[in-house]
Amino acid sequence: MSSADLTRFTAAETAAAIASREVSAVEVAQAHLERISSVDGAVHAFLHVDADGALAAAARVDAARAAGTALGPLAGVPLAMKDVIVTQGIPTTAGSRILEGWVPPYDATILTRLKGAGLVLLGKTNMDEFAMGSSTEHSAYGPTFNPWDLGRIPGGSGGGSAAAVAAYEAPLAVGTDTGGSIRQPASVTGTVGVKPTYGGVSRFGLIAFSSSLDQAGPCARTVLDAALLHEAMAGHDPADSTSIDAPVPPVVAAARSGDVAGLRVGVVRELSGEGYEPGVQQRFEEAVALLSDLGAKVVEVSCPHFAYALPAYYLIAPSEASSNLARFDSVRYGLRVDDDGVRSLEEVMSATRAAGFGAEVKRRIILGTYALSSGYYDAYYGQAQKVRTLITRDFAAAFEIADVLVSPASPGVAFPLGAKVDDPLAMYRQDLATIPSNLYGGPAMSLPMGLSEGLPVGLQVMAPTMRDDLLYQVAGALEAALHDRWGGNLLASVPELAA
Ligand code: GLN
Repeated sequence: MSSADLTRFTAAETAAAIASREVSAVEVAQAHLERISSVDGAVHAFLHVDADGALAAAARVDAARAAGTALGPLAGVPLAMKDVIVTQGIPTTAGSRILEGWVPPYDATILTRLKGAGLVLLGKTNMDEFAMGSSTEHSAYGPTFNPWDLGRIPGGSGGGSAAAVAAYEAPLAVGTDTGGSIRQPASVTGTVGVKPTYGGVSRFGLIAFSSSLDQAGPCARTVLDAALLHEAMAGHDPADSTSIDAPVPPVVAAARSGDVAGLRVGVVRELSGEGYEPGVQQRFEEAVALLSDLGAKVVEVSCPHFAYALPAYYLIAPSEASSNLARFDSVRYGLRVDDDGVRSLEEVMSATRAAGFGAEVKRRIILGTYALSSGYYDAYYGQAQKVRTLITRDFAAAFEIADVLVSPASPGVAFPLGAKVDDPLAMYRQDLATIPSNLYGGPAMSLPMGLSEGLPVGLQVMAPTMRDDLLYQVAGALEAALHDRWGGNLLASVPELAA
């Protein structure tokens, strides 16, 4: 087994090979670090690689295995983490200059759990600054490039995580999804990305963008791998006041069940057609037909208020961001601009925020501050909250007639770098299909449904809150049928990237 081969395995296969002592965790970590060295110059998925930490963690797994300690189902599997998640002793920037050089003193709960399960953290992945964007071009550290076509964006805000997985730099990654930042990158890179139920996975240690919407979740190359990572990080956390105190939905068993016979699948009328590329629409119709062939009962559902999801989100998310980002004040974290050392505190704060935040972040802070200001609060923020309630009611009504809902995950294929970066509304429209689930709080996934113009496109599956297992049940069955049709995983045809 050559070291390059080790990067081609799924997480489940890697864990099995480590458990059966076919390979060591250190060999697996080394193979991925070599892969990163050879391709990340072209992809730029990582902002920071922690080679020493990864090798040390892998050695601990090998030692535990040698000592006969029972290992978890992902022990020794390498992992990448979006740079919005805090990591003790490892720089964390959230893609922003304002946090350059900041080294967190603690781990996010999800990282504590994943380390405890024996996963090996390779490093931190690139992202749009503070998770605001759909292309990773708003990173202060330069964009990430889509492994399918290096002239195109990998989606955003978690483009680094998706690209790392698609480029075989890591079998698993963690992302965060506030309006689509796990699912849209998954859609345009041919990976599987899941936004769990809001409150299903701890937010403790996530740098907050929009606290009522933010949710961490898995990125992987297969549905089963995503389920294994989901199960390893989910569950109640007393340190997160919005965490749900209930058993984790049985996502791994659901991914393995592979059966959708009799399941009612609702096609959301408002999430296709106008605004969606014809190639995306075509793959979507084929995926729905395949679900029907597999025995699902396909019904059409209407969610009339989804049309207002985008404007409601772009009031709620910036409003919460304007409050959350107030903490970056030049005193507590990262950057401080105080050239002459004699300025007032207010001048230092103002100069630091002017230099430390990028244009999109400033746009959101201004929008949010305006929407929350007295005299406008009811007309903007209050109105958006009412729309949020109507969208939640649309979901409730749809789930009376369907067990899950489906749509394309993104309106188009990966677009060329630079194509939308100066057109905020065009960028915001990437989230047409993903935002409703964030406003509602239910789980949603993107899984590959084929290629359009030679580039991957994703199917979105949405489920009621705390029924994350239904996503995996549908996706597991569909993935098996699609892999039969394609002769394997689409990602096997990612172009060779090594120099
Ligand atoms: N693209 C959306 C935005 O810019 C969603 C971001 C996210 O999910 N973090 O806000």
